[in-house]
Amino acid sequence: MTTSPTGAPALFENVAGDIAVSFEFFPPKTEKMEQTLWESIQTLAPLGPRFVSVTYGAGGSTRERTHATVARIARETPLSAAAHLTCVQATKDEIDEIARAYWDAGVRHIVALRGDMPTLGDPFEAHPEGYANAAELVAGLKKIAPFEISVAAYPECHPDSRNRAADLDNLWRKIDAGADRAITQFFFSPECFFRFRDQAAAMGIDAEIVPGILPVSNVAQTRKFAGACGANIPDWMDRLFEGLDDLPAARQLVAATVAAELCGRLYAGGVRHFHFYTLNRAELSYAICHLLGLRPRGATIQEQAA
Ligand SMILES: Cc1cc2nc3c(=O)[nH]c(=O)nc-3n(C[C@H](O)[C@H](O)[C@H](O)COP(=O)(O)OP(=O)(O)OC[C@H]3O[C@@H](n4cnc5c(N)ncnc54)[C@H](O)[C@@H]3O)c2cc1C
Repeated sequence: MTTSPTGAPALFENVAGDIAVSFEFFPPKTEKMEQTLWESIQTLAPLGPRFVSVTYGAGGSTRERTHATVARIARETPLSAAAHLTCVQATKDEIDEIARAYWDAGVRHIVALRGDMPTLGDPFEAHPEGYANAAELVAGLKKIAPFEISVAAYPECHPDSRNRAADLDNLWRKIDAGADRAITQFFFSPECFFRFRDQAAAMGIDAEIVPGILPVSNVAQTRKFAGACGANIPDWMDRLFEGLDDLPAARQLVAATVAAELCGRLYAGGVRHFHFYTLNRAELSYAICHLLGLRPRGATIQEQAA
């Protein structure tokens, strides 16, 4: 029996592989990035994700690329593909048209978001003829077709929120409008997630709240956008990566260890669904899933196509 001197079980001793995962990608800009993305999808597909999702660039800047990537996943793989969609700088009619095109392409799942202005830090301004926030977008999508809908949630509070109560109230409105689940912004403290989950439950939010896991291998880069999106990077993270700038393999090992420990502690607290921000790289997310006991469940995409 693998117990520590304190009698506590080893971190991954009790994980049974009874988890479900989903993976998030961003639309590639170049042919080389497209190849990397596709290889990552093929590596992660045998883990049997519930869905894979593709982000939507600020101000709709990736509209075509997001659509092309999601449509290709839907067409060429057995995976369930979800398209992110935001309200930024678009009329309701324009957004509704995008949503209809997804439905026609066989895409049944939308990650519905308000989004941010194209310039980081600019306050959000709704388009005069657009959806004002994610709750309105969810309601609009539900009128178009019976989409499965995921929305965003913030264990450390969205920066635009007056306070935690207002933030939870906003989440409640999104679920009430028809969203099926919330996926959280990334975070590094399991206690923070559990507190948020308990507060949401106390408010009567009964939809599942799925933790968003960001395996960090570059703290400086992560810090750049963390502040703007309601996530705190603890100081111990900087210390962990000190001196590893020129040692990418060591950085990857540290990144996998930190994220796997977070997931292990979430698992111990009852979490069974994890959403990974893959940044289009498969290895880290694959390693963490493996540590959580997940093993390939089916044929590779190539085997299924043969
Ligand atoms: C899982 C996940 C995926 C994401 N994917 C993308 C993506 O693909 N593309 C992208 O551009 N961004 C993405 N984001 C970032 C997201 O767009 C930003 O965090 C954005 O600032 C808020 O979007 P939201 O959908 O949470 O907004 P909302 O839930 O609409 O609102 C966010 C905040 O605005 C305020 N607010 C909203 N409505 C009201 C109201 N009626 N009255 C008062 N205050 C209100 C509240 O403070 C609320 O907490 C993602 C975030 C997450 C967590």
